[in-house]
Amino acid sequence: MKQKKFILPESEIPTAWFNIQAVMPNKPLPILHPGTRQPLSAEDLYPIFCEECSNQELDTTNEWIPIPEEVREQYAAYRCTPLVRAYDLEKALGTPAHIYFKNESVSPAGSHKLNSALAQAYYAKKQGITNITTETGAGQWGGALSYAAKKFGIDCAVYMVKASYNQKPYRRSIMQTFDAAITPSPSMSTRAGKDILTVNPNDQGSLGTAISEAIELAVSTPNCKYTLGSVLNHVCLHQTVIGLEAEKQMAMAGEYPDIVIACFGGGSNFSGIAYPFMRHNIQDGKKTRFIAAEPSSCPKLTRGKFEYDFGDEAGLTPLLPMYTIGHTFKPATIHAGGLRYHGAGVIMSQLMKDGFMEAQDYDQTETFKAGVLFARTEGIIPAPESCHAIAATIKEALKCKETGEEKVILFNLSGHGFVDMAAYDSYFSGEMTNYELTDEELAKYQASADALNQ
Ligand SMILES: *Cc1c(COP(=O)(O)O)cnc(C)c1O
Repeated sequence: MKQKKFILPESEIPTAWFNIQAVMPNKPLPILHPGTRQPLSAEDLYPIFCEECSNQELDTTNEWIPIPEEVREQYAAYRCTPLVRAYDLEKALGTPAHIYFKNESVSPAGSHKLNSALAQAYYAKKQGITNITTETGAGQWGGALSYAAKKFGIDCAVYMVKASYNQKPYRRSIMQTFDAAITPSPSMSTRAGKDILTVNPNDQGSLGTAISEAIELAVSTPNCKYTLGSVLNHVCLHQTVIGLEAEKQMAMAGEYPDIVIACFGGGSNFSGIAYPFMRHNIQDGKKTRFIAAEPSSCPKLTRGKFEYDFGDEAGLTPLLPMYTIGHTFKPATIHAGGLRYHGAGVIMSQLMKDGFMEAQDYDQTETFKAGVLFARTEGIIPAPESCHAIAATIKEALKCKETGEEKVILFNLSGHGFVDMAAYDSYFSGEMTNYELTDEELAKYQASADALNQ
């Protein structure tokens, strides 16, 4: 029998995260205070994030950051995650390529997000923080953080975009199951929420508003810190357990990837699977290609510009040097809610600029077609976000079919789609549509970032 799954025991859970900042030929540009335009120090971030995360954010020297034992113990509930050879998908495609996927959908939260949620909750607890807060759109990050907070015995307050709160009751129920306090945003509990509701009492909210509310709560409440589930350097750092395990598992399979693929929202699961392999491109002359798969409706890497921009719609965050389509961007309501962010993380942006990675964009219907083929061959229903990685994998595997090349392709299955079956319904009913950003729309949003760079 051919070996399908490559399984590592709990003792092989990595003991350190890989910090790619330490080995990048060009370090990321500094993040700037929006008023003074001076680079921020870790201390400047302490009012918002817990100290250890703030320090990790700006650490450009330590290549390996030890994973606390308490976090490894929590990882053991679902790590090491399996690496799987997708023989049936290969067969259906008729490709000579060898396709592998790292299955992060086996976590209790159903996605990779728990890898950072557990670390962030642990560091908050260790610092004496009693309450962590965040925003959530589709609900994946909120769900992961609720579980992590529960595990470390701290409270979790989630601002959930009002439209999702009403339309996506199941993710709300997941957060409730893990005992989080969930507030539909905009709310009357913050200045930011009140300002919006007094103008429009029916405002259905946005991720930008929810971020503003969560940050306001964190800076105005003692022993309360804000957390974020993507984009930031420390979040991407925590995700490197994915690629570090995958590296060992690929070796068990006797292979090394020619191509590594992940879907791309803010870039955390991409970083997680990619950086441990990318270090061998940087240090050992390996030639692996790294492909970020993003939606055509939110094309920050394929059509955005590298410049300073705010991380949020309201303009409360520091200025971040990143590929962006502009912080005022209003994304279409595609089903891959986790990919609707206007910018790419600072590290990925620098790596993209320096040619270490590439990006491809996919229409929503094409991604579901890919996801359905994956489900019918490999038996796992992928999250709408993960469907983008599968679409890119299929595209590369079909290229191999044309050229006859036996390339090794590794992709990250960032999550399962059990809470997203409404999206599959929409696909099967034929009602699903695609949204392509016009050049005019792009120029309009981009202007909001351009204005900060003059
Ligand atoms: C949040 C999410 C993403 C996108 O976030 P990244 O930070 O880009 O990884 C992708 N897949 C799933 C399942 C998610 O929940």
